[in-house]
Amino acid sequence: MIVDLTGVLKEAGNKISVDGDIELDDVKYLGEDFHFVKPAVFKGSISNSGKSLVLTGTVTLCLKVRCARCAKEIEKELSYELNEALIRAEDNTDPDGDAVIFSGNEIDLSQIAETGFFMNVPGKFLCSNDCNGLCPRCGADLNLGDCGCDKYDIDPRWEALKKIMDSDKD
Ligand SMILES: [Zn+2]
Ligand SMILES: [Zn+2]
Repeated sequence: MIVDLTGVLKEAGNKISVDGDIELDDVKYLGEDFHFVKPAVFKGSISNSGKSLVLTGTVTLCLKVRCARCAKEIEKELSYELNEALIRAEDNTDPDGDAVIFSGNEIDLSQIAETGFFMNVPGKFLCSNDCNGLCPRCGADLNLGDCGCDKYDIDPRWEALKKIMDSDKD
């Protein structure tokens, strides 16, 4: 999503509203594949503070991910805020380097939206908070009912302890 900054750059105090779709490429992050079901929607504004441009707004996107417990594919909506200083490369006077640098009279919001996604995406998604997950023994989806496996002697900690006790016997 390219935004024309000509108007807002003219003088301090100017402000433009920025609403539109941002196309994001599917990403792999922390071992998870994220597929964006449709373009993200941005609603916000860019204002001229005199020192820099200030971008504020909200990104709302729809993700296809796998439930961390039962691996079912689910669609989840995620919203997060963007709040960035934008400084033109030609007059870059940003002492702490936090600002987003652009050149010319336009800026592409896709990169900023993607960075915001990485900062805001939760580590885990669940199909529901009380998802029962999969049976660790036979792999059955326990949300569909009990598979009948004995769940009591499969705790890996017990498994490890049992090994130690067995080896003690020798
Ligand atoms: Zn689940
Ligand atoms: Zn089972």
